[in-house]
Amino acid sequence: MDNESPLQLAVLGSTGSVGRQALDVVREHPDKFKVVALAAATNTELLLAQIAEFRPAYVAISKAECGEKVAAGLKSANGTKPEIVIGKNSAAQIAAQDAIHAVVAAVSGFDGLDSVLVAVDAGKDVALANKESLVAAGSLLKAKAAASGALIAPVDSEHNSIFQCLPGSCATSSVRRIIITASGGPFLTLPLDQFSSITPAAAIKHPRWNMGAKISVDSATLMNKGLEVIEAAYLFDLPPNSVEVLIHPQSTVHGLVEYVDGTVLAAVYSPDMRVPIANALACLKLKQYSGGTKPVNYGSIQRLTSRQISFLDLVSCSPLEFIQPDYVRFPALRLAYQALESGGLAPAVLNAANEVAVSSFLQSQLGFNRIIEIVEQTLAAFNNRNYDNIGDVVDADQWARRQSKALIEAGCTRMVS
Ligand code: MG
Repeated sequence: MDNESPLQLAVLGSTGSVGRQALDVVREHPDKFKVVALAAATNTELLLAQIAEFRPAYVAISKAECGEKVAAGLKSANGTKPEIVIGKNSAAQIAAQDAIHAVVAAVSGFDGLDSVLVAVDAGKDVALANKESLVAAGSLLKAKAAASGALIAPVDSEHNSIFQCLPGSCATSSVRRIIITASGGPFLTLPLDQFSSITPAAAIKHPRWNMGAKISVDSATLMNKGLEVIEAAYLFDLPPNSVEVLIHPQSTVHGLVEYVDGTVLAAVYSPDMRVPIANALACLKLKQYSGGTKPVNYGSIQRLTSRQISFLDLVSCSPLEFIQPDYVRFPALRLAYQALESGGLAPAVLNAANEVAVSSFLQSQLGFNRIIEIVEQTLAAFNNRNYDNIGDVVDADQWARRQSKALIEAGCTRMVS
């Protein structure tokens, strides 16, 4: 790879919230990045516009009917046509192409796992927005990255912040604890007895961040923070009791690292995902310049300028508050710590049950207050075990989906074997 040439990127999940914002950053730096592959699911109109703009060599579309629409749309277009792959595993099928130097993994949910594993296996550096990869298969993903030398640069704002505050990009014996912050979501102060009447529309209206529907509901239940605790523990190789959560409604301080000498380093910026995305992309670029030699000091990245982000005005966002989370009103966080302590396949089960319950809630088939109940009952019915291959993770994920669906249908009384 020529270090001076643009880093050739695959943007997986390009029509989602993080994918679109990653392309916002890439668009400003054509000398540094070139999009050679795009992957999306259903938004054919936007995907066609992205193909026309970025002219990738590969396009993956997971939904068959949308793939056909994109193929038909491209027939009438001028210029070189991309190679199109259609189907559920299409993103994974293109992720290891030689033309791809690095991957922005922004497919949402467990569906994003296989493409991340394929990319990391092939030694592609990954800007990782798909937290479910680390939640469901954290130890496997880390082992694969260690074997192939692939960098996992976190995009999740809290984790990117921690990454920036750890000079070696991994925890050492000097780290006492890390703290990730949570906005608290739209129901931070809502009385518990009103949780049962929360509507999907109210739950996806996040006070600080503009995100997809699923992650917005996860923010409202605090499950997003629970998943992020698990994500952080695997990513930075920390024990559960070294990862703490504080509610910080202003969403200005995103992640903090406390060292044993009492020093606390924090990353502080406006709540705009393009800030951590730009940092993760700069890390990928630094890895390219390093020619793959180790160790790479990610503290020395050349930061990407942006005309789009709003720079922080500390006066206007004062005062900054930090509050202990309420584990009674938001039991998701407690459950996530329990799953992390159990290890093995428990985090994969937690994630799958949550995906099913949130999806049911978004379709108005399940009350908001029952989302975490379903997750808890699914976990309680699971016979946890350790794993060393992706097949076990997929089996546990599918079992949890069947179990949680059965619980929802039966009003939490029936179990599947
Ligand atoms: Mg986050």
